[in-house]
Amino acid sequence: ELKLRDQNDRLLLANQLAVGIAHEIRNPLTTVKGMLQMSSADSKPRHFGLILSELERMNLIVGELLLMGKPQAAVLRDESCQTILEEVLSVFEFQAAAANVEIRREFVRDLAIRCDRNQIKQVFLNLLRNALEALPDGGVIEVKLDAAGPFQRIRFKDDGEGMSEEVLGRIGEPYHTTRPNGHGLGMMIVSKLVSSHRGRMSISSNPGQGTCVDVYLPASRGER
Ligand code: ADP
Repeated sequence: ELKLRDQNDRLLLANQLAVGIAHEIRNPLTTVKGMLQMSSADSKPRHFGLILSELERMNLIVGELLLMGKPQAAVLRDESCQTILEEVLSVFEFQAAAANVEIRREFVRDLAIRCDRNQIKQVFLNLLRNALEALPDGGVIEVKLDAAGPFQRIRFKDDGEGMSEEVLGRIGEPYHTTRPNGHGLGMMIVSKLVSSHRGRMSISSNPGQGTCVDVYLPASRGER
């Protein structure tokens, strides 16, 4: 019997397994996709579009699994938190508008964080996506930036479905999802990246009322 000491061991093992499998799956997946795309018009299978989009979804999941296994070396710089948020929001706002979701910004002033720009973009994007998924009938997402001692606090608050205590307790656990198209990796990646930045995160949520995620990232030296 395999004895796992703690949650960490379990995560590590899940991680290794996932990356191993993702690696093995990627090549045949690429082949199948390529062959399918090359097939001539009259030999295309029925439901070609659906098959292709499902393959693309597999590709995406495999890509995320691989990323999670070997995170790229972080490049830490002093960055404008507001600029990073605006860059993420400029892409995200189209999706939000299409889903009848309004984004409310509350940036009192710009604040500098010490971070890897791309990794933190991924954190913000994952949190925004989750907020959007919790708002199937539209609503509001508040994005707030303010200072909190040696940290800058970035708040993502939605007035969506919220989470039960059970779901909240399992957040960040790989493959735990309540979404039909989810894969339950988003929050795990978020919490990994936040903690590799020596940041913190706190989440409060009430079913039917919404969710508030506070991310605390280290302020740049000059701002502590
Ligand atoms: P996925 O989005 O693929 O399901 P995540 O790890 O990002 O994976 O999220 C895990 C689960 O946590 C979601 O399936 C959902 O149940 C819950 N969750 C995360 N963020 C929110 C939110 N803002 N509102 C409600 N539920 C959320």
